[in-house]
Amino acid sequence: MARARKAAKVSCDDCFFRARMLCALELDEPCVTFRPDHPEGLRPPTQMRFVFRQERSTKAVWAFPTAAEQAALHSA
Ligand code: SF4
Repeated sequence: MARARKAAKVSCDDCFFRARMLCALELDEPCVTFRPDHPEGLRPPTQMRFVFRQERSTKAVWAFPTAAEQAALHSA
């Protein structure tokens, strides 16, 4: 599954901290603490989601080899 979304270009003018005059940095480009300014305020980053793998829940991860596989393995 490829990520189709591309990161949008942001500037300090779009930053929550700049909009509320909480930033003391004088940088030419946004820093790593950039947070988008929303009308409802500072929102925490979205959490990662659990994705359960269906094949793991229906199949055994490992099984003993069959008798035919054992015979083929040790016959050489
Ligand atoms: S916190 Fe970083 S991204 Fe936000 S305004 Fe200040 S320098 Fe720019």
